[in-house]
Amino acid sequence: RNNVLEVKDLHVSFHTYNGEVQAVRGVSFEEKKGETVAVVGESGCGKSVTSQSIMRLIPQPPGVFKHGEILFEGNDLTKLPEKQMEGIRGKDIAMIFQDPMTSLNPTMTIGKQIMEGLVKHRKLGRAEAKEKALEMLRLVGIPSPGSRIDQYPHQFSGGMRQRAMIAIALACAPKLLIADEPTTALDVTIQAQILDLMNDLKEKMDTSIILITHDLGVVAETADRVVVMYAGKVVETGTVEEIFNRPRHPYTWGLMGSMPRMDLSRDTELTPILGAPPNLLSPPKGCPFASRCPHAMKVCKEQMPETTDASGTQRVACWLEHPMAPSVEIPHDLVG
Ligand code: SF4
Ligand code: MG
Repeated sequence: RNNVLEVKDLHVSFHTYNGEVQAVRGVSFEEKKGETVAVVGESGCGKSVTSQSIMRLIPQPPGVFKHGEILFEGNDLTKLPEKQMEGIRGKDIAMIFQDPMTSLNPTMTIGKQIMEGLVKHRKLGRAEAKEKALEMLRLVGIPSPGSRIDQYPHQFSGGMRQRAMIAIALACAPKLLIADEPTTALDVTIQAQILDLMNDLKEKMDTSIILITHDLGVVAETADRVVVMYAGKVVETGTVEEIFNRPRHPYTWGLMGSMPRMDLSRDTELTPILGAPPNLLSPPKGCPFASRCPHAMKVCKEQMPETTDASGTQRVACWLEHPMAPSVEIPHDLVG
């Protein structure tokens, strides 16, 4: 089996006093073994809901799993009893978050938190688990792990906490690591160190990574493939080269245009995408990007574009791909 993960037509909603928010509306993508897939898009596009659904961490209610399959090594996680899911969570699939303080336990030493999973999932004895915890701290680059292992999260700096969280997540050598904005809260230097560390560990441990981010610089440095989400849908997916050099969806053009580029002079103006995403309490029946898209046609507002193959690896959901659509050039400054 080549794919470690296949998400198929996932639909997840949230019940609110205003009605049903359709946060994820038919998301499909797959992840090969050892690959880093970046899921990008503005906040509220459904990227975190998608990753939390894979971990089955969506509280129900208010969340509702409506439809879809999440195949992890061929097993549909949506159908597993919670007991079995507990055996997978933290062992085969692990997650790291933007803010370590929300996922680290402030009352437990870092060492104990690394050991917990090893004792629970790998059935290690205390001494062995402690040995392994020290090794993990060393691996993620925490200096003098011997004196750090008995410290509490508040005794660690922000960057160190992030490393500790990675150590906890990777201790059981998960097959899939989900990293939700793992470096957003950190300053640029430490950000780069953490990304290097994740790349390194991926090579060493052969872990597949789902990287949730809105930072395209991070994507360029770490991802093999990119899934671009908008308003609860995947609008484009492709290899990192395709998405950066030959993006085909106007929303992706917008994202790229709003990213600072190394090869453009510093004073090049960034162009934010004007307007706001649609309200997912009542999503539009046509293309969700139509209200912001400079190329929107009549059909766009009336009918949802189908997802078409642009290459063996690139897929895009846009009416511009239709043979009857006028041809539109990729904005010149995006062609790499
Ligand atoms: Fe723009 Fe139409 Fe394509 Fe949507 S389907 S991105 S509105 S051109
Ligand atoms: Mg988020």
